[in-house]
Amino acid sequence: METDTSMMRLENYALGQWVAGTGTGTPLHHAVTGAEVAVASSEGLDFKAMRDYARSVGGPALRAMTFHQRARILKALAQHLTARKDDFYRVSAWTGATRGDSWIDVDGGFGTLFAYASRGRREFPDETYYVDGGVESLSKGGTFIGRHICVPMEGVAVQINAFNFPVWGMLEKFATSFLAGVPSIVKPATVTSYLTEAVVKSMVDSGLLPAGTLQLVCGSAGDLLDHLDCQDSVAFTGSASTGLMLRSNRAILEHSVRFNQEADSLNYSMLGPDASPGTEEFDLFIKEVAREMTVKAGQKCTAIRRTLVHESMVADVTDALRKRLAGVKVGDPAVDGVRMGPLAGKGQVREVEKSVALLREGTELVFGGPGTLDVIGADAEQGAFFPTMLLYSDRPFERLQPHDVEAFGPVNTIMPYASVDEAIALARMGKGSLVGSLFTARDSVARDVALGTAAYHGRLMLINRHSARESTGHGSPMPGLVHGGPGRAGGGEEMGGVRGVMHYMQRTALQGSPQTVSAVTREWSKGANELLDRIHPFRKFFDELRIGETFITHRRTVTEADVVNFAGVSGDFFYAHMDDIAARESLFEKRVAHGYFVLSAAAGLFVDPAPGPVLANYGLEGLRFVKPVYVRDTIQARLTCKQKTAKEDREGQVPQGVVHWDVEVTNQDAEPVAVYTILTLVKRST
Ligand code: NAP
Repeated sequence: METDTSMMRLENYALGQWVAGTGTGTPLHHAVTGAEVAVASSEGLDFKAMRDYARSVGGPALRAMTFHQRARILKALAQHLTARKDDFYRVSAWTGATRGDSWIDVDGGFGTLFAYASRGRREFPDETYYVDGGVESLSKGGTFIGRHICVPMEGVAVQINAFNFPVWGMLEKFATSFLAGVPSIVKPATVTSYLTEAVVKSMVDSGLLPAGTLQLVCGSAGDLLDHLDCQDSVAFTGSASTGLMLRSNRAILEHSVRFNQEADSLNYSMLGPDASPGTEEFDLFIKEVAREMTVKAGQKCTAIRRTLVHESMVADVTDALRKRLAGVKVGDPAVDGVRMGPLAGKGQVREVEKSVALLREGTELVFGGPGTLDVIGADAEQGAFFPTMLLYSDRPFERLQPHDVEAFGPVNTIMPYASVDEAIALARMGKGSLVGSLFTARDSVARDVALGTAAYHGRLMLINRHSARESTGHGSPMPGLVHGGPGRAGGGEEMGGVRGVMHYMQRTALQGSPQTVSAVTREWSKGANELLDRIHPFRKFFDELRIGETFITHRRTVTEADVVNFAGVSGDFFYAHMDDIAARESLFEKRVAHGYFVLSAAAGLFVDPAPGPVLANYGLEGLRFVKPVYVRDTIQARLTCKQKTAKEDREGQVPQGVVHWDVEVTNQDAEPVAVYTILTLVKRST
C-alpha cells in the first residue's frame, strides 16, 4: 500500500473498477505539515450507472444471502482489516490524528464491523428477512392474524460522511446496510478521503465483497442524489446546512427517499450540585471535559461543547480545567508527549475561527485562545493547528451563542446554573443534541436530569464513582446503542443494534390466516397446521424436523401428593400451595399447584427420555401462567416446532441448531393454563 506522503491521485471505485477522476481535482493536504498528499476527483464518473450497478448487481447478490452469511463476511472483513491496521494508522496520521485519535476512528470502525458480525448471527435469523415482533391477533376465531416482516430495500444506500471519522464514519453505516442486504455507495468528505480510500482498497482487495456491494466516490457526489428513488436511502453525516440542502433535493422529496441525518450537536456535560471539589465525581468530570475538548482536537460530533456547573463551583471548575488543559501538549502527533494534533485542514481552521468569533460575542475567554499556541515538532503556520479555548458565559439564558453555534474544534463554554431545574433548562437549549452527560453521586439528581433532558438528546451518560472506571466515555457512540439526536442533531438514528439495520429494510405488515402467515415467515403460530407423526419429535434430527410438527402428550391428573412433594423438593412452601386457610382467602380461593410444577410436569409429559438427537434444554421464553391448576385437574401438553435456527459449526462441537417449540399446557376443559416457548439444542444430521 502507498503510504508515503508523496502526492497521489485518489481513485474512485465504480462499477467494479478503480478509476481516477478527470480534471485538476481537489488537492488534499497533510494536516501537520501542510504538504499536498493527494488529489481527489470524481469528475467523469457516471453516477446513474453506479446506482444502477449497485441495484442490478450488488443488491441481488446480497439479497440472495441470509443475515448469517452476510454477518460472516463482515467478520472476515473485520479480521482482514485488523491485520492491516498499521497501514491505516500511517495514513490516519496525515489527518493530524494522534495514535489515540486514530484508535477511535480505525479500531472503532473495525470494532463496529465485529459487533455487527456478531449481532448478525445472534440476533437475526438465518434467513433473508426478519420477522419483527409477535403475532397480532385480529379476529375472535383466530383465523385472521397479523405479523410484521422486514425485507431489504431494493435500491442503494448512499452514505455521505463527515471529514472527522473517515473510517468509523464509513463502517458504522456500511456494517448495518450490508447486514440488511443493501449495497452501498460511500462518499467520504473530500478533505480526508485518502484514508477512506485506503480502507476501501483493502476491503476490495480482500475479495470478500460480492460485486456491486460497495462503491466509493472521492470528491463531489455529482448528480448522484438526482437518480435516487423510493428503494434508495441516504445516510448523511455532516453540518446541518449541508444536510438541509441535500434533504431538499427534488428526487429525495418526490420519491420519499429515506434520509437519515446526523448533524451539528451542542452536547452538554453537567456537574451535579452535590459533586463539589474533593469528590470523586468532580475529578472525573474535569478529566472528561478536558479529554472531550482535546481528543481529535475537538472534532467529534459528540464532543462536550457546553459545560454546566453550579454557580458556586464555577471558579473551581475553571481553575481545574485550566490546569488540566495547560498540560496538553499540541503539535505533531508523531512527537513523543504530544496529546493534541491539528485540525484536519486549513479549511476547518477557518470554519472554527468563524464560529469562535460568534461565540466570543456572548462569552469571556478564560483559557487558551490566540497567542497561546505552542506547537511542538511542527510549523504552526504550515499545519492546521488551533488553540484550545475555554469560554465562560455569565448569562447563559440571555446570551444564546453557546446554545446556537458549534465550533468544531477544541472549544467549550462553561455556564453557571442555580438549580437542577435551571441546569435542565440550559441543557434543552441546545435544541436537540447527540449526547449529554452528568456527573453526580445522587441518583435522584440523575433521574431528574435524565427525564428532564431525554427528549432533547439521543444518548445520556450518567456517571458516578462506581461506573466511571468502566465507562465508555461521553464521546463514544456504541454499536449496541442508538447514535443520533433530535432537532439540530439531525433527527436521525444510527446503530443501536438491530435498530440500525432496520433503517435499510422495509417493514411490512402481513395479514392472513395463521397457516398462510406461517408459510411466509417460516414461523409457526397458533392456528396454523399441526403436523402429526408417529415418530416423537425428540427422536428427529434438526434437519428432519418440519415447522408445525406437533406432539400431543398423554394426560396427567394433579394430586395432593404432587403439590406436597413438589413443595418438599423445591422448598417452595408459599401459602397459596400449602396453607388451606390463606389460600381460601386469596384470589385462588383454594390451594393451587405450583406453576413450576406445571412446567416440570409438562416436560415430563413431552420429553422422550432415551438418548437421541436432542442435546440440551437451551432455555425458555415468554412464559405465562394463564389459569391456576388445582388438585384433581388433568393437564396435557401440546409441543409444536415453531422455528429453527442452525448454529454455526464450531471445531470440536457436533453440528447443531436451536429449535423453538411452542408449548401449550391445557386443563380438562381444554383451557390453556400455561403457554411458553422452549428452546432445545438439536443435532444436525449433516
Ligand atoms: P459538511 O461540510 O456538511 O460535509 C459533510 C459531507 O457532505 C461531506 O462528505 C461533503 O462532501 C458532503 N457534501 C457537501 N455538499 C454536498 C453535495 N452537494 N452533495 C453531496 N454531498 C455533499 O460537514 P463536514 O465539515 O465534513 O463535517 C463537520 C460537521 O459534521 C460538523 O458540523 C459536525 O457536527 C458534523 N458531524 C456530525 C456527526 C454526527 O454523527 N452527528 C458526526 C461527525 C460530524 P465534501 O467534503 O466533498 O464537500
